[in-house]
Amino acid sequence: MSYFRDNIDAMAAYVPGEQPAADEKVIKLNTNENPYPPSPRAMEVLRAFAGESLRLYPDAMAGRFRQAAAAVLSVSADWILPGDGSDDLIVMIARAAAGPTRAVAYPVPTFPFYVAQGRIEAAEIVEVPYGDGWKLPVDELIAAGAAVTFVANPSTPSGTMATTQQLAALADGLAGLLVIDEAYVDFADFDALDLTRRFDNVIVLRTLSKGYSLAGLRLGFGVANPSLLEGLVKTKAIYNVSAVACAVGAAAIADQKYHNECVAKIKASREALSGELGKLGYTVTPSQANFLLVRPPAGDAERMYNRLKASGILVRYFKRAEIADQLRITIGTPAQNEALVHAMSQLLE
Ligand SMILES: *Cc1c(COP(=O)(O)O)cnc(C)c1O
Repeated sequence: MSYFRDNIDAMAAYVPGEQPAADEKVIKLNTNENPYPPSPRAMEVLRAFAGESLRLYPDAMAGRFRQAAAAVLSVSADWILPGDGSDDLIVMIARAAAGPTRAVAYPVPTFPFYVAQGRIEAAEIVEVPYGDGWKLPVDELIAAGAAVTFVANPSTPSGTMATTQQLAALADGLAGLLVIDEAYVDFADFDALDLTRRFDNVIVLRTLSKGYSLAGLRLGFGVANPSLLEGLVKTKAIYNVSAVACAVGAAAIADQKYHNECVAKIKASREALSGELGKLGYTVTPSQANFLLVRPPAGDAERMYNRLKASGILVRYFKRAEIADQLRITIGTPAQNEALVHAMSQLLE
């Protein structure tokens, strides 16, 4: 006997990456957090936060953050919909657009939260494998004809990107929504924001969790034409962005100077780490994100994951056939990366 719908009983729960207790001494390179602290301006806003602002309900549309994000992206504020992390936007989109006769499609492997939301809505799930070299399977996704198509770009766990032309062809060929999840775009060479202006079925998702070092704050947003966002608003929790997230997030996104400095450091570390691991004999997929997909020379990724963990370094291992011989490793500080290279070099001996 269950209290739940059949599709809930039948689905697997989303399994988050491990979060060790704050007092555990580990080098944490498993969930793509930013190794640098949040913007000092954002921290000032947090410290100065008035208790009176907590007594009242927040602005249901997080207007202050909306304005700040709109200014940075050079769009008008009604093109921005803030959420409790970009996960929240994924939930809203699935609730609004997926269902028993409205399929969800995405290329695989990818972020496993898409399948969870599709299953909750009892939608048919269409998984299309990436092509060689992580090529986006545009024609196959169009043929799937889903009501909602998710593409993480940069993709996870590969860190690779589809071109804007490929995404435009996909948007053009789909009758349903195209969700371009740009969680890692801060570390990339280009973005697909322009497609939201060219196609009325495109929504771009952004988050402050990765590029802005605010994973714990929980703040993300969608960018799309106002009529698409009006539909999504109907499915959102009433006060989905807390007063704290709204104020701190507004200060963080406005501090582009600090953001750009952190991103530049991570990109430089990414290239350095990629080179070091390559010299040791590891195969590294060229990445436009803040992580690397790395294949040990013997393909014994699970063994390496366990050995690294035993030596206090946490990376991500996915039990999935296509990537069972690889590890996803978040870019850390130069000192963390050095410790990683040292450990990964010893593991080859
Ligand atoms: C981290 C991540 C997100 C979002 O995270 P939030 O913390 O909920 O904003 C979304 N999509 C992908 C692919 C991610 O890796």
